[in-house]
Amino acid sequence: MPELTEARVAPERSAWIPPPSPGAVTPNLAEYRAARRSFSWATARAELDGLPGGAGLNIAWEAVDRHAAGTHAELVALRWLGRDGTRREFSYADLSLLSNRFASALGGLGVGPGDRIVSLLGRVPELTIAALGTWKLGGVFCPLFSAFGPEPIRTRLEKSGARVLVTTPALYRRKVAQNRAALPSLEQVILVGEDESSAAADQVRRWSTLMTVASPDFRIPPTDPETAALIHFTSGTTGMPKGALHVHEAVVAHHVTGRLALDLHPGDVFWCTADPGWVTGTSYGIIAPLTNGVTSVLDEADFDARRWYEILARERVTVWYTAPTAIRMLMKAGPELAREYDLSALRFLASVGEPLNPEAVVWSQGVFGRCFHDNWWQTETGGIMIANFAAMEVRPGSMGRPLPGIDAAIVRRLADGGVEEITQPDRVGELALRPGWPSMFRTYWNEPERYAKCFVGGYYLTGDLARRDADGYYWFVGRADDVIKTMGHLIGPFEVESALLEHPAVAEAGVIGKPDAVAGELVKAFVALKGGFTPDEALRRDLLGFARTRLGAVVAPKELTFLPVIPRTRSGKIMRRLLKARELGLPEGDTSTLEEPAHGNT
Ligand code: ATP
Ligand code: MG
Repeated sequence: MPELTEARVAPERSAWIPPPSPGAVTPNLAEYRAARRSFSWATARAELDGLPGGAGLNIAWEAVDRHAAGTHAELVALRWLGRDGTRREFSYADLSLLSNRFASALGGLGVGPGDRIVSLLGRVPELTIAALGTWKLGGVFCPLFSAFGPEPIRTRLEKSGARVLVTTPALYRRKVAQNRAALPSLEQVILVGEDESSAAADQVRRWSTLMTVASPDFRIPPTDPETAALIHFTSGTTGMPKGALHVHEAVVAHHVTGRLALDLHPGDVFWCTADPGWVTGTSYGIIAPLTNGVTSVLDEADFDARRWYEILARERVTVWYTAPTAIRMLMKAGPELAREYDLSALRFLASVGEPLNPEAVVWSQGVFGRCFHDNWWQTETGGIMIANFAAMEVRPGSMGRPLPGIDAAIVRRLADGGVEEITQPDRVGELALRPGWPSMFRTYWNEPERYAKCFVGGYYLTGDLARRDADGYYWFVGRADDVIKTMGHLIGPFEVESALLEHPAVAEAGVIGKPDAVAGELVKAFVALKGGFTPDEALRRDLLGFARTRLGAVVAPKELTFLPVIPRTRSGKIMRRLLKARELGLPEGDTSTLEEPAHGNT
């Protein structure tokens, strides 16, 4: 493998952001090395209760029932903000009872352990209730993103072998009904919401009717921690999405990472903006805040900068977990907007899903007086693996350090098919993890060979390239598939995109390698501009020059094209493989997860 040219040297020490001075709340992870030394997964497991009588471990018990049976019974577990301004609150006791009803209802339909229950819902409380009820029953919950079109929905229903679908009348009519006959295993469709006129004709059931007659008493059967609990399809950034299977034992990692990486404390108001159709929205939108006994905010509406600041201010959100794409949109809306709101309740800000550009970290420190803490994980890892912790200085551009209980390494693949660890600092290789943490996926659903390929030489290989500095901070370089090879150097697109983002005209950038007879590949950039800037030749030249000054001639883009928007997955990730396919006139591959106005998928 040729040496990787660092497009940008890691920020100077002077750019590092120290932890805020001690406030009223002491971070859960106060000292990194000590926390790692004293950590064991067995001790972490002991933070949870387990089912009464030693009957195993069930996510729903840890998330709601144990709180409902204790002092948290009347605490608000879920605060739902409807698109139209409606506001509904559910206590831990409410969620416990409603999920009992849903589990009873499923049982009454003959649904049982191991059956797959798929949701196709927006951000509504019924989704949380359906997930919890499914776990109580021993079913496998599989949330789908409601903005998918009919075809991606059909393939995921088929792939998961869904027996039950929980959705709304409108989504059912528009996106499922036409394919129902092709889905013989889909026996039950449960519709949430009022417009249910077509119920009888379409062989569907009403959520409201089922829930009214279902018993509020449900006893969770003994649950082996290795019982399947969740199938999550990946974002499809690099190809056909895979269904990662997770088990009840995962709750140990959800709980601990919520406490250590998101610094959840009693009394917190937590807002995870991710959609529960993606793994973040389940692990940290549903499970971790509930096991940690905090109040979780769920907003039904789509992104809107003003609405988001209003929510942060009005709900007195203390811990906020969001994604780089949203942060870049807030940056685009300008710091003045943020300053209109009282955001003084915010204590901890975290980001996941994509590399968080150093620019965004520095921006947030200026605007909120607190910076975003990047963390890294995947659908496959089920929970946060590498993080910037509250008590740690933040090095803008770094993903942080591995969680206690997580052993990460940088490895190089060998010609004989094995791998070798790279121990020297600052060398680029593939990010690898030692298997064995509780929320590790147990397989790719019905794709065991694909699963087996992820494990080599005692490591789980993540498919991401990274480097580790001398202090153990990890720096994301790129997905192995996205890395650009030019003139004998490897270049991570993220570094080039970050440099372009420093230009005042740039809202978003996506960078690819374009085949070139001389260089192997040449660096090509696609740029979407902020409002008020014109995509003309002068600006194009200015941007190329700007990048060359920052990155040097080898690394800087040689070509630059303006686009109205950069194609992203529906979970917000830049789809570089699509930029490349379009540039080269190649087939676009699987675009089921593409978020693009022109795509007409919704
Ligand atoms: P697919 O596997 O189908 O191509 P995907 O990898 O995008 O899709 P996810 O599991 O949702 O699906 O995303 C995990 C990936 O997202 C990581 O492997 C990494 O490439 C990227 N990612 C997540 N968090 C970060 C982060 N903090 N910094 C850089 N990259 C990140
Ligand atoms: Mg992936």
